[in-house]
Amino acid sequence: MSLKYEKKDIYSSITEEEIFNADGYAKSYMEFLDKARTEYLAVEEAVKILEMNGFVSLDERPALEIGDRVYFINKNKSLYVAVIGSEELVKGVNIVGAHIDSPRLDLKPMPLIEKSGAALLKTQYYGGIKKYQWMSIPLAMYGVVYNKDGEMIKVAIGEEDDDPVFTIADLLPHLAKDQLKLNANDFIDPEKMSVLVGSIKDRDAESKETEKVKANILKILNEKYNIEEIDFARSEISFVPAFKTKFIGLDKGLIGGYGQDDRVCAYATIRAIIDAADEAQDVSKTMIAMIVDKEEIGSIGTTSMSSRAFDMFINKIIEKTNSMGIDKLEVFYNSKVLSADVTAGVSPEYEEVSDIQNGSMLGCGVSLEKYTGSGGKYNASDANASYMSEIMGLFERNNVMFQVGTLGKIGKGGGGTIAYILADKGCEVVDCGTPVLAMHSPFEVTSKYDVYMTYLAYKAFYKE
Ligand code: MN
Ligand code: MN
Repeated sequence: MSLKYEKKDIYSSITEEEIFNADGYAKSYMEFLDKARTEYLAVEEAVKILEMNGFVSLDERPALEIGDRVYFINKNKSLYVAVIGSEELVKGVNIVGAHIDSPRLDLKPMPLIEKSGAALLKTQYYGGIKKYQWMSIPLAMYGVVYNKDGEMIKVAIGEEDDDPVFTIADLLPHLAKDQLKLNANDFIDPEKMSVLVGSIKDRDAESKETEKVKANILKILNEKYNIEEIDFARSEISFVPAFKTKFIGLDKGLIGGYGQDDRVCAYATIRAIIDAADEAQDVSKTMIAMIVDKEEIGSIGTTSMSSRAFDMFINKIIEKTNSMGIDKLEVFYNSKVLSADVTAGVSPEYEEVSDIQNGSMLGCGVSLEKYTGSGGKYNASDANASYMSEIMGLFERNNVMFQVGTLGKIGKGGGGTIAYILADKGCEVVDCGTPVLAMHSPFEVTSKYDVYMTYLAYKAFYKE
């Protein structure tokens, strides 16, 4: 027997049946990804799936029994889910947490301008992007806007076949001599990332000749949504890539799509808690799933992982299971968490930024990342060896194909997840998610086998 560790690819190692299952899972994931274009829509889609599987709103249940399935929506943008187990809560719960916000272009509060005969919406980018990747691609517009009566109106334009799309028109190379002298971080001025939304004048508008295209756009928005210009200030509207999720490659082994960081793990989290609850003979440890917002901008705010809304949810579970008097801190202390977030896959043409032996290869399984951070483990959430041992053992017993990875070479950059926030609460936590190529780009790439293995990993974790 060889003592040497050998990384294996999933496809060569799994049964025909599992290959078939992986294809089915990939297709339903891709459908989810096409619908869950914003955190609002991700919550909406997740709730639909949960309700089809017997989950009800926590508020509907005055008391909770073993086996009960409940969810709590936090301000439309994050979601906590529980399946109540037979074991006392104070012995800890099993938590999987993912995030559902993805890099994108948000509207400024007063975005609509007209310049050179074009109506434009000014944007501010959200999350860490390479700005040039977002130029001259088709964009769709999604979000919500409130009217004067406080009614929420949903906006979704750009992905139906007969919908128009939007774009930021980049500068032609012929006139980009000065622009191209700048470094890649600077050559796209974020103040110029304005999205084209119109070009036709409202001939009858009473406004100045130079504002008639803008007037026409306001008229169209008013007809369609019954809103006025000031209502932009009470909206959350984003532009996201307008292309659908597709298989990549002649062998269709990879999945390309927008928002896979981290909706690939969010979908797996939701599917895993449902299927674990269905498959378990009896649920012993209470299972918690959460999909949260604002990870990409530092996990701050009411709908982020840092929000005490999660503590409130745990309080309600304690109260409704008649477990009053137990110490919530002790519940956290005894709880185990998979921080379900994607990691960087080793990029074929940029291998030099990865430490290959400590990198995650596409197609070789869900990645366990012992620690994140950068440089001298600065800002790292570093899992305990004992917990690594537990989770690796769990995966080994359940035939979950995993690999261990770090984001990249020391000093090449770094990153974080929601893990540290749960670690701060006292939970055992490790990052565990799907490797991704071209992360934070408009078209992120994963392996369909890793996508499937991510789901199997979370399900095994819940079922233990
Ligand atoms: Mn992420
Ligand atoms: Mn990210």
